[in-house]
Amino acid sequence: MRAIGIESGGDRPRLFDVDRPEPAPGEVLVRTLRVGVDGTDHEVIAGDHGGFPADEERLVLGHEAVGVVVDPTTTDFERGDVVTPMVRRPSPGGTNAYFERAEPDMAPPSACVERGIDGAHGFMSEYFTSPAPFLIPVPEAHAAWGFLAEPISVLEKALDLARASRSSFTWEPETALVLGNGALGLLAVALLAPEMDVYCLGRRDRPDPTIDLLESLDATYVDARETPVGKVPTAHEPVDLVVEATGAPRHAVESVDALAPNGVAALLGLPGSQELTVDAGRFHEDLVMHNKAVVGSVNAGPTHFHAAVDRLETLPAWFFDRYVTDLVPVDRFEAAFGPDTTIKAAVEFDTV
Ligand code: NDP
Repeated sequence: MRAIGIESGGDRPRLFDVDRPEPAPGEVLVRTLRVGVDGTDHEVIAGDHGGFPADEERLVLGHEAVGVVVDPTTTDFERGDVVTPMVRRPSPGGTNAYFERAEPDMAPPSACVERGIDGAHGFMSEYFTSPAPFLIPVPEAHAAWGFLAEPISVLEKALDLARASRSSFTWEPETALVLGNGALGLLAVALLAPEMDVYCLGRRDRPDPTIDLLESLDATYVDARETPVGKVPTAHEPVDLVVEATGAPRHAVESVDALAPNGVAALLGLPGSQELTVDAGRFHEDLVMHNKAVVGSVNAGPTHFHAAVDRLETLPAWFFDRYVTDLVPVDRFEAAFGPDTTIKAAVEFDTV
């Protein structure tokens, strides 16, 4: 069967011919429909993040997937069920407390592998297998966009952690600032805009499809070159919530400047090393005197995946059509990884 992945020493994804996997009892064989591409895939391809499975020179990519069950083996799934897979699995050597508690997203990197990212093959192949507990059902009506459950689940978790950090008092957020108008930032805008006034920060000139999309969601575009994060309160207003999706390290610090008293910033970006000069005293005092919080968040657990699948139903259909700008068949897979992706790319292996 066809699979898309990277090889040791290579600098771009390639098409491989690999054996179709055989599901063991308790596993499910899934026929892949679509697999999304995100910033993490680009970091893996560049060698900046993740790694190959132990003793292998090749990694099948893909961690945002949707497919159809073709062999449920001994599980409760039925042939024809539409599913989306969770990304994390226990490290080789067996399960651990995080997975036994169904909290894979809280495992430190040493206690897990991530399919398609770090230490385990992904889902970018015609078929894949998975143990049943790592598969989340998707209504067939949402099969086309089911691969977006994974990135949405990442946001559901970050918002869950943000809300939890404010749960000891009455916190009714009315304003949010999303940092980044990339694939993850625009999804955050789509989730938050029905509930509050949203600003979204980027660094692009108009006309630009990401700015058009965020404005269609009733969000306000903030050009970071004119209004850096710390100036948002004076140029616009202080915000109750920041969602950082740029990977720019200075935003981890500056997001606190944009917060109103009692606000929270949820950080999602995965930056490389960068040294900054920071007034640590002012940063520290601002957090304490204004009851502000900063939470970091990675990956997502089953609760967040289920919430993400529910979101597929509530987000407007026009959003998906405009958000997934580059849907390509397997024989043109290179286009999904190229520099010309407009907003969001995905590879289509099959249809329901
Ligand atoms: P993208 O690269 O698609 O988007 C990043 C966006 O941020 C781009 O639009 C970029 O603008 C913008 N940006 C970067 N730096 C600045 C800046 N200094 N000022 C203004 N805008 C800026 O990545 P994704 O949306 O896929 O992911 C966002 C981040 O989240 C990445 O770091 C990724 O690794 C991380 N991530 C984290 C996950 C988690 O579980 N925590 C899961 C998935 C992703 P432009 O395009 O104009 O350069």
